[in-house]
Formats: sequence, C-alpha cells, structure tokens
Amino acid sequence: MPPMLDGNRTSDRWRVPPGAAVDLAAVDTASTDGAPGRKKDTESAVGDLRDELADLQARLWAERERSVLVVLQAIDTGGKDGTIRHVLRGTNPAGVKVHAFGRPTDEELAHDFLWRVHARTPAKGEITVFNRSHYEDVLVVRVNRLVDEAVWRPRYDQIRGFEETLTIAGTRVVKFFLHISREEQARRLQRRLDLPDKRWKFEAGDLKERAHWDDYQAAFAEALARTSTEAAPWYVIPADKKWYRNWAVATTLVELLRDMDPQYPAPAADLDEMVVR
Ligand code: ADP
Repeated sequence: MPPMLDGNRTSDRWRVPPGAAVDLAAVDTASTDGAPGRKKDTESAVGDLRDELADLQARLWAERERSVLVVLQAIDTGGKDGTIRHVLRGTNPAGVKVHAFGRPTDEELAHDFLWRVHARTPAKGEITVFNRSHYEDVLVVRVNRLVDEAVWRPRYDQIRGFEETLTIAGTRVVKFFLHISREEQARRLQRRLDLPDKRWKFEAGDLKERAHWDDYQAAFAEALARTSTEAAPWYVIPADKKWYRNWAVATTLVELLRDMDPQYPAPAADLDEMVVR
C-alpha cells in the first residue's frame, strides 16, 4: 500500500475521506477557497504547477517502475476535456495517455464491465487519464436503468477490489469529480448552442440527461462515498470557475507526484570513464 497522505496538503480540502458521507449539494461549486489569487494570479500559478508536473512526469517515465491513473468524471459539460487540455499541456506525450470511454460496443458488453477498462490502465512509467471510466457503470447505467440494481450495486465492491489490484501493482489511482451547478450547466449548454465553434459538442442527448440531474447527483454521491479509499481517493473539485478547477486538479496531481518522488534511474555503467570521440 502507498503511504498515507499526511494531512498537510492543499489538496486535502477536496479529498473525500474513506467512509465519509458525501453531500454534493453542500459544496459551493463556485468556490475559490485557497486559491493563490483571483483569475490572473491563479492562472499564473497553474503555469508553475504545469512546469513542475512536466518535470515529475519526465522522472516517472524515466524510472519505469510505477504509474498513475487519473479518473475524470463529471456531469455533461463539467469540463473534463478542458481540464485535460490545461493541466497536461507541457507533459511528454510519449508517457501520457488519454482514453475516453463512450457507450460500450457489443464486444465490450459481452464481457464484464471492467474488461475494457483494465486493458487501458497505465503501464509502468505512464500517466493515463480516463475521460469517463468504469464509474459510468454505476452512474449512467444506474440512472438509465440499463441493468438491474442487483447487477450494479455489487459493483462498488468490485471497483474497490479492482483499484486495489492496480495499487498493489504500482499504480497510484486518483479520481476527480468536477462539480458544477445546475445553473452553470445551463449556461454551458446554451453556449454550445450559441457559439459556432462549440456547436459540434452539443448533443440532444445532453438535454435528456440534464432532466435526470437529481438522479445523477445521488448516483455520484453514493459512488464517491463508497469508493473513496486511502489508496484511491476521490476529490470533489468545485468546477464552475475553470481557472479554479484547473488549479485544484494541477495542485492535486503535483502533490501526488511529489509524494511518489520518482527518480531518474542510475546509469548502467560508470559514465565518468566514457569518452565520446
Ligand atoms: P463526452 O460526453 O464525455 O464528451 P461522448 O459524447 O462520446 O463523450 O459521450 C460518451 C457517452 O458514453 C456518454 O453519454 C456516457 O454516458 C456514455 N457511456 C460511457 N460509458 C458507458 C457505459 N459503461 N454504459 C453506458 N453508457 C456509457
């Protein structure tokens, strides 16, 4: 098991403690608590965090011993794509993978729900980001009643076991719920309708899902409460303000990687003796 985080991290304010109840309605989605300043100063802090993340990722990649799995979940328009773009810009694409999980194919549905997910987990040295994940199987699947409760309910335990398997194999698992308000979602959907370069993102299905807002909030709350563990914690990120969201996610990732402290491997031979002619 990885060492317990010591409780003095900026990211602790967003962490869901294992076993804690989760009350998403009590979270201020427009919060800017703890940020280094307003928008401009915080964006400049994100730039510094990005530089540090790039350095830590270079070391993780060179070390080739451990890996990081970042799970990103949110309600539609919650900002998963933007978070990936802003926070991971600057890392070496050779060692970073992003995988988006859409509706399962027939072949995927013919297997257990973790089959397609396990195939995409990071190899040693890599950081992999899941844009949606195995959590959809207790979220959209639950809300839209795609399977019976007798099937999805045991999945919380199955997910905990799966993530423990990854952890024991050297993967640090970190999970973010980007939390926006219902009003903010309305603004973002409207922008998708209004702005020509956002229209491609608009899906009529999003309006149908929006009608299930309360069901989704309940499903997220239960998933977070049941699967936030010491080794694979959930972080609830207030995400109405994109600059705060980016800073919070970047801070949490940098703190995780600082804790891992990846090292460049020792050279294979005594390089002091080498001469390049
Ligand atoms: P996004 O909305 O993340 O930008 P898409 O528009 O491709 O990406 O949507 C992916 C869709 O796939 C979402 O509607 C999501 O609910 C659905 N999906 C993902 N995983 C599952 C799953 N396991 N079962 C059913 N639907 C899923």
